[in-house]
Amino acid sequence: MTTSYVLQNLQFVTGELVDIVVKNGQIEQIATAGQGQAQQKYDYSGCYVSSGWIDLHVHANNRLHPYGDDIDEIGVRQGVTTIVDAGSCGADNVSDILPVAATFKTDLLAFLNISTIGLQRIDELSNLEWLDKQALLDTIKVHCDKIVGLKVRMSQSVVKDSGLKPLETARQFADETKLPLMVHIGSGPPDINSILQLLDQGDIITHFLNGKANNLFDLHGKPLPSLLAAIQRGVLLDVGHGSASFSFKVAEEAKRHGIAPFSISSDIYRDNRKNGPVYSLAHVASKFLLLGYSLEQIIDAVTVQPAKAIHQPELGQLKAGRPADLTLFEVVAAKQTLTDSDGETRTAKQMINTIGVVKNGELIT
Ligand SMILES: [Zn+2]
Repeated sequence: MTTSYVLQNLQFVTGELVDIVVKNGQIEQIATAGQGQAQQKYDYSGCYVSSGWIDLHVHANNRLHPYGDDIDEIGVRQGVTTIVDAGSCGADNVSDILPVAATFKTDLLAFLNISTIGLQRIDELSNLEWLDKQALLDTIKVHCDKIVGLKVRMSQSVVKDSGLKPLETARQFADETKLPLMVHIGSGPPDINSILQLLDQGDIITHFLNGKANNLFDLHGKPLPSLLAAIQRGVLLDVGHGSASFSFKVAEEAKRHGIAPFSISSDIYRDNRKNGPVYSLAHVASKFLLLGYSLEQIIDAVTVQPAKAIHQPELGQLKAGRPADLTLFEVVAAKQTLTDSDGETRTAKQMINTIGVVKNGELIT
């Protein structure tokens, strides 16, 4: 039996109004609004559509505390069709999540933590014996369709006395596997400049708008020369909001100096989803509307750009013949207080709300 339906009167962020016909899980046709034909019709007047959102930084292993959550809770229920676990797991425990992912509606990919233990402890790089190259290579081989990069957390509480050694090792692992490296930054030591020096084209800095002392901006809010040099080399900047890593003040300075996010991600897990300040990827994205980014830039940063960062550009494409993988959302006038990771607040005038998704052809609202 074929299943087909048409989503009518949707709007792209470019302003174009379209009907999208979905048939057998594929996008059959993108027609001018009013022209799409199918027996089953759903009217989405007033709603936007984009390719399915990708959250490049989540914690999706629900067995882990505090950094864990349920896959569909931070995926399709929030309008996000693909989530990328950012190093919750290493070689020892990535099999806890990747094989079961097929039972969920949300697609799950992963940055493999270079520490074999992943986040079973949150000082996972304090003991260099947990950096096991053979275990890493074997694990990537088994899960090569799901592991899209490597994760290394370079802050004092994680590396303790290991200094830069974990990042130097991660650099070797990344070069050898040809996978992008996602680097978490936070409080030092190691000093941020020495971290930046080891990053290269296609590597991803997550938490780039954190407000900690060892961040990417000087005391006057100017981007560090080493950050500008890294951007020149093609290092990508990811938000990774989280409970402790997004500062309005820093984000405002970054905007003022023309330093825009490459990707907007949430760093969501159970506690910051339920109690804030993250709540959802849409909530994080709304903060960038408030900062003055255009809706087009913001939606690119949750679709096209993260797809490029994981070397799967097709995930960010919305066109006939592709699997029907869509996010439906709206922008509504709403006076709402938004809070950053340092407890600072701003008042938004509008919010981005997700309404539903189409995933594997199924309309989920
Ligand atoms: Zn994280």
